[in-house]
Amino acid sequence: MRLKKGTRCTICKSKKLNNKAVVFLPHHRLALCKEHFISWFENRVEKTIKEFKMFSKNDTVLVAVSGGKDSLSLWNALVKLGYNADGLYIDLGIGEYSKDSKILSLDFSKKIGRKLHIVDLKIEIETIPVIKESVNKPACSACGSVKRYYMNKMAKELGYSVIATGHNLDDEVAVLFGNTLGWDIDYLKRQYPVLEEEEGFIKKVKPLCKITEKESALYAVFNNIEYIEYECPFSEGASSIRYKEIWSKLEEQSPGSKLRFYTGFLKKMYPLLNKENSKKDDLKKCIICGEPSFHEICSVCKLKQKIQKVKV
Ligand SMILES: [Zn+2]
Ligand SMILES: [Zn+2]
Repeated sequence: MRLKKGTRCTICKSKKLNNKAVVFLPHHRLALCKEHFISWFENRVEKTIKEFKMFSKNDTVLVAVSGGKDSLSLWNALVKLGYNADGLYIDLGIGEYSKDSKILSLDFSKKIGRKLHIVDLKIEIETIPVIKESVNKPACSACGSVKRYYMNKMAKELGYSVIATGHNLDDEVAVLFGNTLGWDIDYLKRQYPVLEEEEGFIKKVKPLCKITEKESALYAVFNNIEYIEYECPFSEGASSIRYKEIWSKLEEQSPGSKLRFYTGFLKKMYPLLNKENSKKDDLKKCIICGEPSFHEICSVCKLKQKIQKVKV
């Protein structure tokens, strides 16, 4: 499924122009030149935002920025589409990885002239490597709850109306696949590109949910966006990476599989899962920090307590 030499851009061809295609998207049956790939990408993001009623031009959007291709491509596209979008970077304190990604995020925010808010986890709790040592949990699960917590808290404090994350189609398919393997109904019920605002929780959206990892990397490259090219050292061996490998084989053999699996779930399965107005677990307020939580003490305050015990 490679681009054949000399193929012309599908859109240019229809306009009687002669530009060569540089990208081939087999599942959309499109061969595109650089310029038309960029506009195709931005149109697709815009359509997804409208389809799922994610936000409008009146909203203030806080983009969760990691310094990777997905979050920077998302931020770039949103600003170009005319949305009011700033960034939030959480410095996890993971050695060179965090240093490099922070610099790239800061440079990018200057380049597009938008604000980048920064949370330093070392000041708030501790760095992820220290948390990993003191908690009997894989680094990714602690890291995930910490990121969700501060994204939500900061968005509220800074007055943003919606949080946008750079999760792409490959991420969503890997998570959906994992949850389906275990029939984790409670997780499946919440796997939607929009999580509406709920007591204490800001609305959260995933505008790249129909964009593949390759497409977001290409968009970054074509826009000269410098992003961190290596993965977080702790993500090695994560099951999501194995699932992604399986799915790229499947996609290569039958293009469109990922999109079919994901959009089929959203259209056919998700409504069934949420049909009976099943009672939601009661959201409480954490007795220590006051943030929303399903338990008396939220997961981040529990983390803090554990780390303090280890330190003493
Ligand atoms: Zn073209
Ligand atoms: Zn708390």
